[in-house]
Amino acid sequence: MNPLHGLPLLGDLPDIDGRRVLVRVDFNVPLHIGIDGRATVADDFRITAALPTLRWLQDQGAEVVAVSHLGRPAATRDPRWEMDPVRDRLATLCPGIELGDNLRFDPGEKANDPAFVDSLIKGYDAYVNEAFGVAHRRHASIVGPPHFLPSAAGLRLAREVEVLGSILAHPARPFVAVVGGAKVADKIELLKALSSKVDTLVVGGGMAFTFLAAQGRAVGSSLLDLEHLEDCRALLASGVDIRLPTDIRALEPGGVLGPSGRGGVKVIEGDLPDGWNGLDIGPDSAAAFAEVVRGAGTVMWNGPLGAFEDARFAAGTRVVAQAVAACKGFSVVGGGDSASALEELHLCDQVGFLSTGGGASLAFIERGGDLPALDALRHASNAPQE
Ligand code: AMP
Repeated sequence: MNPLHGLPLLGDLPDIDGRRVLVRVDFNVPLHIGIDGRATVADDFRITAALPTLRWLQDQGAEVVAVSHLGRPAATRDPRWEMDPVRDRLATLCPGIELGDNLRFDPGEKANDPAFVDSLIKGYDAYVNEAFGVAHRRHASIVGPPHFLPSAAGLRLAREVEVLGSILAHPARPFVAVVGGAKVADKIELLKALSSKVDTLVVGGGMAFTFLAAQGRAVGSSLLDLEHLEDCRALLASGVDIRLPTDIRALEPGGVLGPSGRGGVKVIEGDLPDGWNGLDIGPDSAAAFAEVVRGAGTVMWNGPLGAFEDARFAAGTRVVAQAVAACKGFSVVGGGDSASALEELHLCDQVGFLSTGGGASLAFIERGGDLPALDALRHASNAPQE
């Protein structure tokens, strides 16, 4: 089925010339605090991703007001999380768009409080969701307005759904997923969902050690999640082709991780001795993973292969990122850390699709495309009928 089926798109909105349109965007961007204490936008990828929709609405003659959350304020006004730096950048990139207050200053946003939904939609004629990064959240500004206003998915949100939906439905094979990151607990549902779809599942990062332990290997003092040992064992026994690191770059006992890190680092094959902390895949594993990735018809990458913020443990992530960029097939990269790694390597424009949502893209795959934001839009009064 077409992944966009039933989803109202911009063209499904009634005439918005001279009308007020509320656009939920995801401008939760990283900020840079200068020596003068002034915050500026450190990375505007999420803002630029929404511009085509904002400009389209302006071109139709609409009066556009965007709303977003920023950071993690404690449900009350907090000067650290005012939208001003974002507003400044938006004014430069797309003049004439108003940007409302940080939505999460009000407890009603996360609580999906009907009274807050009421206050949000007051005075508007239509609603557009251009916030894929939070499409998996059941928050007021995401699931509320489509009950009351003609609504539409923004261009970028629709593209996210189209790309992720199509690779799940009919990926060019072989379909390879590379999953890294710190915690198995965060990604076990993703791995289970992917295991029935992919041809090969490449597992790296801290989460690989629970898989290695499930195979009976000693993992020293590397990250280990005993609660999910059984899940990993079951996945390994399920018959899916899972590739795990065979060599590990590890930090000696008592070594310190981070920018001012110290301590001996060694590549170890097989069991890790007591106290050694596995923080990256070794060069043999990186080469083997890269070969699988380069030969993929579709590759999906989510999560770093090591503690890449420390340059001593960045090589595995770098080699895999380069392979993803070099892959002749279609490559999709989840947001978050994988996107930062790509950016550092200046490889962003060499992948097929860079998702604006880390958590949302994981949730999309885990739930087969069923996200609260999409469900709400499909129930809007102007949604295309079956
Ligand atoms: P996630 O948010 O789950 O994608 O995890 C990203 C974090 O995992 C990054 O901050 C990495 O430093 C960290 N990470 C990746 N591999 C390892 C590892 N082997 N040991 C500890 N942390 C790791």
